[in-house]
Amino acid sequence: MVVGVLVQISNKSVDRIFDYVVPNELLKDIRLGIRVEVPFGRQTLEGFVLEIKDSSNFDKLKSIISIRDLDIVLNSELLELGKKIQQQTLSPLICCYQVMLPKALKAKRGRNIGIKFDTYYKLSSVLLDDYKFNESQKKIIERCKSNGAVLRKELMDISASSLKTLVKKNILVEEVREHYRVLYDYKQEAKRELTSEQSGVVKEVLEGEFYPVYLLYGVTGSGKTEVYMELIDEALKKGKSSIVLVPEISLTPQMVERFQKRFGDKIAALHSALSDGEKYDEWRRIARGEASIVIGARSAIFAPLTNIGIIIIDEEHSDSYKQNDSNPRYNAKDVAILRGKYHNCSVVMGSATPSLEAMARAKKGVYKLLLLPHRVNGRSLPDVLIVDMNDSIKTSKYHFSDTLVNSMREVLDKDEQVILFLNRRGYSSFITCKNCGYTFKCPNCDISLTYHKSSQTLRCHYCGYGTKVYNTCPECKEKSISDLGVGTEKIEEELENIFPDTRVLRMDYDTTSRKGMHEKMITAFKNHEYDILLGTQIVAKGLDFPNVTLVGVINADVGLNIPDFRSSENTFSLLSQVAGRSGRSKKTGRVVIQTFNPDHYAIEYTKKHDYLGFYQQEMMIRKCLKYPPFYYLCYLRISGVNSQYIEKEAQKIKRALERNLLSTIILGPSPCTVFKINKIYRYGIILKYKKEDQLMSVIEKISNHYIGNQQIKLDIDFNPSQIY
Ligand code: ADP
Ligand code: ZN
Repeated sequence: MVVGVLVQISNKSVDRIFDYVVPNELLKDIRLGIRVEVPFGRQTLEGFVLEIKDSSNFDKLKSIISIRDLDIVLNSELLELGKKIQQQTLSPLICCYQVMLPKALKAKRGRNIGIKFDTYYKLSSVLLDDYKFNESQKKIIERCKSNGAVLRKELMDISASSLKTLVKKNILVEEVREHYRVLYDYKQEAKRELTSEQSGVVKEVLEGEFYPVYLLYGVTGSGKTEVYMELIDEALKKGKSSIVLVPEISLTPQMVERFQKRFGDKIAALHSALSDGEKYDEWRRIARGEASIVIGARSAIFAPLTNIGIIIIDEEHSDSYKQNDSNPRYNAKDVAILRGKYHNCSVVMGSATPSLEAMARAKKGVYKLLLLPHRVNGRSLPDVLIVDMNDSIKTSKYHFSDTLVNSMREVLDKDEQVILFLNRRGYSSFITCKNCGYTFKCPNCDISLTYHKSSQTLRCHYCGYGTKVYNTCPECKEKSISDLGVGTEKIEEELENIFPDTRVLRMDYDTTSRKGMHEKMITAFKNHEYDILLGTQIVAKGLDFPNVTLVGVINADVGLNIPDFRSSENTFSLLSQVAGRSGRSKKTGRVVIQTFNPDHYAIEYTKKHDYLGFYQQEMMIRKCLKYPPFYYLCYLRISGVNSQYIEKEAQKIKRALERNLLSTIILGPSPCTVFKINKIYRYGIILKYKKEDQLMSVIEKISNHYIGNQQIKLDIDFNPSQIY
């Protein structure tokens, strides 16, 4: 017997299947999708068995060395899925499989994570009457009689020597069981009666015409989660499993708890706070069918469930579903649709601010649109106040307007709580005039220019346009140009000065990275140990604090000035989410948004809670500028240590693209926003296309041309969520 093995190194030049002979003693255990060890050059590598066949076209085959695990790691659905993802993303096949697996199953480097075991004892079939037992031996036997198998530790606590004797006499036999590191403490709760709007939506999915994808557009607090749970319950009743994807940031203990209360230990939660060992345990519970509802961030879409009945994608608009920093650059939403097709089940995507792409598809009838237009408790959305910082900046020495300070005072005096949000999304510095709010924009692209500190220039990273940084504002002629970068720490300092006696809790990536901190902070704020919660996106989503009646946004413009064609969309959806944190229970809520661009449409539509208005305006702009959803994008990033060489090759690539792709718009090459990272220079080329049959094969050819060339790296990103 011969097997085709894909080895676990992500090197494109060896990303293909190599044949090996199976020695006789391993024949009985060989199956598709298991991991084996093989000789590879002078090394021993781990790989996946992708083919089983009688013979090979090559002679002088080497033999596989051993089988790593007897369980199938990749089932036939996932094996096929990996190939599809490879075709869609043009990344090495091995990466497409590795992304599906917990770290513990990827090729071992350094620490190896094993399965943990517990030892249990139970009574054997030896007749007990023949023996005389002492007291502790009797106790042990009684315990085993009433409990079946008992943990070794418990019996040791009764008497170690008695346990030893009983085992020696074959009265007790050992049983080794796998130990799962994650323990769930669940108190199940009865489900809520659905509102008529909610049950209408559920009915449509269950009984209406079948659609592969539903888009559930429901305002914040409209009860989308309750709808998801009902659909999962229905799947469960039919013996089917489910996947629920949420952005990592909203995968809070609060969220997981809600699902556990309804479904108990049928839930497996995959989130980044788990250790590698814990993730591995959860993965095995899923693979064995012991957990049939998986809730997790992006990569949970690869959960090894069989017989899936429904796939839920919450906060559908979130860019966290796209992997953009490494291969495969896949979107979990696309993978969800592929898995839905395989299992013949629907994908339900929900959001209070659907992505333009999803809404456009829903309007065209590709997706079925479902609506939840009202909050569950009949409460209205909070009032939103826009504060023009162009006036305030001249009088205040802090980043707080009088309006915000006064609103905060009012709320704090009533012993209610405040959430302060600082939109620090993104990494790029931008330059603005402190006097008039002017920002520098690209004349060709209608996108803010990015400040390159090293060269003191402003650049457009879409088309390559560049200009020097001025000290004087071209608009108001004042010398007030400054690098605007306010951090949470700075704001915290200011709060100490303005509100010396209030208790401020700062929550951002720096303060929550330690395990368990996130949860602790949320609980502390909920228990009113703090008055003000100050944070980044971490505070924007999913949280539910009944005592919060004011949400303040320090600077809404940070997001708007990120040089990305989605900056308005992201700002609108983020601000709407943050606004949704205010006034969620009986007390009426209010939102104060500080901005230098009070007339910007993203801000105006946020104020009006008008998603559809925003959608229409943004669609017009996208159409004019030829961006998604009217065009598809592909981003090519060319990087290497020698900037001249890289630029030259980037130009060559551009010419090759131009020769071969006749209906594609090609922009660049231009330096990436972060031009140099770790002494590596980066150039980007953007492709915009509607239909281009040759696209994949042309890009693949170009990519293959550079295989083995150590001087240059080519990253390919289809439908990028970010261009950086
Ligand atoms: P969304 O996910 O749309 O933001 P949630 O599902 O979180 O909304 O619901 C908002 C609040 O309303 C939650 O506190 C939830 O427990 C409550 N809720 C949802 N549906 C119902 C219902 N049918 N009856 C009573 N309360 C509900
Ligand atoms: Zn430009």
